[in-house]
Amino acid sequence: MSKCAQCSNEAIVECGPENSRMRFCLACYQRLQQTVIATNQMYERQIDRLTDDMEMISGISLRPPRPQPIIHQGPVTTNFIHVDRSVVGSINTGTIQSLNVSLEKISLGGSDALSRCVKNFTEAVTAESSLTPEAKNSVVEQLAFVLEETQKPANTRKKSVALSAVKDIGMIVSTMNALHTLWQAISPHLVGLL
Ligand SMILES: [Zn+2]
Repeated sequence: MSKCAQCSNEAIVECGPENSRMRFCLACYQRLQQTVIATNQMYERQIDRLTDDMEMISGISLRPPRPQPIIHQGPVTTNFIHVDRSVVGSINTGTIQSLNVSLEKISLGGSDALSRCVKNFTEAVTAESSLTPEAKNSVVEQLAFVLEETQKPANTRKKSVALSAVKDIGMIVSTMNALHTLWQAISPHLVGLL
């Protein structure tokens, strides 16, 4: 393996003209591509601008109408909690909705990793066969409450209630290894936000 021309990482792609090919790592190659794309977009805008001028002066449309790009207006989140069909009847879907809203806010607030971890934890809880529906709902409802509280201004936040909810969730999942591990990764961050 050879080194990247720009940094000390291993190179994985080769590009450039035949007689002076250069090797880059993925990160450097990605940056190079971004530069190429930005440059091309700049040229496209210049061509568009010149064509606009020519159309305006001549009064003749030189281009076929272009499809308008689709712009997503709403917030974009991929961290939507998926509840399996087999348990969907026993889980409070309103609470899942509320969790999804909070996860979206957390993602938009820049903590996408936390949002993803909470999604994974919630899905694991709802799918856990050794938990009763009551226990699952208890975890999901308390989690939804904690997340809502983290989004509130500090002076209206029910901090002590939220902290005991965090503790209670920890108790419920403490005997299940996988859930316990997931929760250990999340709970300090939630406590930090309260
Ligand atoms: Zn590199």
